[in-house]
Formats: sequence, C-alpha cells, structure tokens
Amino acid sequence: MIFTDTHTHLYSSQFQEDRNEMMHRAVEAGVSRLFVPSIDSSYTQKMYDLESQFPENVYLMMGLHPTYVKENYLEELAHVETELAKRKFYAVGEIGMDLFWDKSFLKEQQHAFQHQIQLAKKYQLGINIHCRDAFDETFEVLESEKATDLFGIFHCFTGDLEQAQRAISLGMKLGIGGVATFKNGKIDQFLNEIELQHIVLETDSPYLAPVPHRGKRNESSYITLVAEKLSEIYNLPIEEIAQITTENSKAIFGI
Ligand SMILES: [Zn+2]
Repeated sequence: MIFTDTHTHLYSSQFQEDRNEMMHRAVEAGVSRLFVPSIDSSYTQKMYDLESQFPENVYLMMGLHPTYVKENYLEELAHVETELAKRKFYAVGEIGMDLFWDKSFLKEQQHAFQHQIQLAKKYQLGINIHCRDAFDETFEVLESEKATDLFGIFHCFTGDLEQAQRAISLGMKLGIGGVATFKNGKIDQFLNEIELQHIVLETDSPYLAPVPHRGKRNESSYITLVAEKLSEIYNLPIEEIAQITTENSKAIFGI
C-alpha cells in the first residue's frame, strides 16, 4: 500500500527532535510520498535540505502563503519566481486567501494569489490552495483564472457540498485530512456524495492531527487514520483508498 501525504510542513521545528524516526514511521506505514508546501523565503533552504536528506520521499512546492503576504510581498513573489525558474517543483503552493487572522492585506493577498496562479500556468504546474474564512474571495480569483490549465488541490477542504462541487468544477481536488475524523468536522457528512477521484489525502502535519491524536502533534504516518475514515465513508477497502488517492495525487503533481 502506498499513501501520499499531499501536504506536510516537514520543516516544522516541532519535528526537530525526532524527524528521522518520524520519517521512518511514515515509510513503515506506507506513506512514502510526502509533498511539502512552501511558506515564504525564510523556509526555502530548509526545504532544500530536507529534499537532500530524504530524496526518495520528499517532493517540494514553491509559493508564498497568504498569511505571509505583508508589506514586502512583492519581494517575496520575486523570490518565488526566481526559484521556479531555477529548478523543478511539483506545484505552486501554498497559495490562496486567509481572512481569519487579518483582513488588512486583502487586496495584496488577492493579487499574490492571482499572480502565483499565473506562474503555475506558465510552468504547467498545479496549485495548492490555502483558504480560511475566505471562500468567496478565493473563488472570485479562481473563476477569473478558470482554464483547462488551471488545476490543483484545495488543501484542508472545510467547505460545504456546494463549495466542494464548485472547487471541483474549477479543476481542484479536495485535500482531506484529520478534520474528516473530527466529530464536529462536518465534511464526513457529505463526502460520500463526492466521487473518490476528486479526493487526495493530506496531514497538514504538524497541525490537525486526526482522532485519537486530536490536539497533539500530527505526523505523516497518521494519514492511515484518515484513510480508515474514508474507507468507512466510501465503503471500500483501505487498499483501494490508498491506491486511488495516490493516483489522484499523481494527476496533480505529475509524479
Ligand atoms: Zn499548510
């Protein structure tokens, strides 16, 4: 069984003490493909180091995270552009809109999102979307960029059925993680109405650990708990969940 973690913050300082052991547990559990989103330029070297350390398992994305869109965001976008031109990445991410913490950079967030979608198209890459308290604003940008070469993953999808279908119609797969195992997570209630071909697995580790680890540090090996939940929801063996969601991830990342 091969699982794909389509979103893990492997460089997090929360893994500093035991990253090797944690990676070992992941690979043992079959989670051998880990896709790592970028945050801002201060993480770039750490990402390259991880890639050299785990060349068989780690695949990198490049992008500027919406909560890091600040006064200097044009410089940060220039960094994203330079790195994309320099070497291979597997997606542009994580990018999008986040109005949960701060609305003061709304316009800049929207600009950064749109600009990075255009970069993804230029390099024929998918995007990895972060969207928090900003569905309307996110969809506004996506609709304006709608095209056959727009595709990607709506990471940590937490919307309703209608929003799920809208995201899918815009070329997105839904990134499903620990929230699907939460009692109040809601998405488990309509997921069976979404075909499995539109779903990919993710942890967003070290955040959003699935039950029974909820509230503690998350790690890639726990993706099996999310797969078990999907196995119940879709009434399919876990092997099939692993295989189909991994195939779906290949359609986005090209590997
Ligand atoms: Zn993330």
